[in-house]
Amino acid sequence: MNNVVPSGIASKDFSIPVIQERGQREVFCGLTGIIWLHRKIHDAFFLIVGSRTCAHLMQSAAGVMIFAEPRFATAIIDERDLAGLADVNDELDRIVERLLQRRSDIRLLFLVGSCPSEVIKLDLSRAAARLSRKFLPSVRVLNYSGSGIETTFTQGEDACLASMAPLLAGAPANEAPSLLIVGTLADVVEDQFQRLFAELGIDKVRFFPPRTSTDLASIGPNTRYLLAQPFLADAARALEERGAVRIAAPFPLGAEGTSLWFKAACDAFGIDSEHVQKVLAAKIARVQLSLAPHRERLAGKTVFFFPDSQLEIPLARFLSRELGMRPVEIGIPFLHRKHLAEELEMLPPDIRIVEGQHVDNQLDRCRVAKPDLVVCGLGLANPLEALGMTTKWSIELVFTPIQGFEQAGDLAGLFSRPLQRRLKLAA
Ligand code: SF4
Repeated sequence: MNNVVPSGIASKDFSIPVIQERGQREVFCGLTGIIWLHRKIHDAFFLIVGSRTCAHLMQSAAGVMIFAEPRFATAIIDERDLAGLADVNDELDRIVERLLQRRSDIRLLFLVGSCPSEVIKLDLSRAAARLSRKFLPSVRVLNYSGSGIETTFTQGEDACLASMAPLLAGAPANEAPSLLIVGTLADVVEDQFQRLFAELGIDKVRFFPPRTSTDLASIGPNTRYLLAQPFLADAARALEERGAVRIAAPFPLGAEGTSLWFKAACDAFGIDSEHVQKVLAAKIARVQLSLAPHRERLAGKTVFFFPDSQLEIPLARFLSRELGMRPVEIGIPFLHRKHLAEELEMLPPDIRIVEGQHVDNQLDRCRVAKPDLVVCGLGLANPLEALGMTTKWSIELVFTPIQGFEQAGDLAGLFSRPLQRRLKLAA
């Protein structure tokens, strides 16, 4: 097999080898993140500086989710721009001006880079600074790249949040400790988490990204942050540069991940452990009831992950430890060893982790493994179904609220339903 170099994970006692694979990839680009980000930050607008391909990707990925006044659009770079016959910066300024005149609700505008803007070396950070000067204080303009050359799928959110980090005001060093939850969560999940933190005894909790761009937390050496998503390496770095300190924890998927996530925050804030235990135990008991029917269907079944959303490791941990599934291969675009250290320690020892992708080699391994369930991107699902395999689209796992105790049963259902459907078709 070409392009496969095993390497070790330098993390405590964890000794599962990680295979590095390089070759053709089958992953969405970072523009896709706009689909959930534009629904989260209610006064933001995402202007993709891209091609018709980018516009088509957004339309098909957004599908039915486009409403009357969408909060994203594509400024098309055409042949004249590519041939250097027009001043792209002037055109961009005109488009932004027209957009902001028409949409007075926009408070934060993101210029989102794409493959074409990268190819013509359009400097979007200068454009954003220029436009910010022009439209401040009513609108701020930021930029980040969602280009397929630089980013995969969920990395768009990482780049977006990293670009927002400088907007957070500095908190004084003597301010009371506060907790910042980092990573886009559905509003319903955010509300549940806020209530549970209050019940546990942590009142000063803020979320990043916020629901409106003006409602930003302040940040400083007394900020402790907890990642809600495992794909936020650049955003985490940007927050740490502002003094915030990460609370190490697994991710809030399933009863176990969610309780360890809350517990880590409570430990960092010195909350009485007996109280924490009591509050969480009641939640865990309820989740276990909701998981039981899914466990019956999934226990002993094998699952194979193609690299896509970067949620693969926490999902594999949840499926193996709480539902009894057997992950045979976990593909992941990038493995952030530090952020995933707690997760990696909980994986079964006989697991194969593959970082990066060589899609043909991986398809070969998948065909040999004949897993009961394959988690993969949209592009691979149909060919694999045609081979008789049962698939789950990984994009659904990013669009659906899956974090927290209340959502654990729904998360399990996302994996058990395709198998049930296959059984019904076979009957
Ligand atoms: S950014 Fe690149 S990969 Fe993404 S849709 Fe546009 S051209 Fe395609």
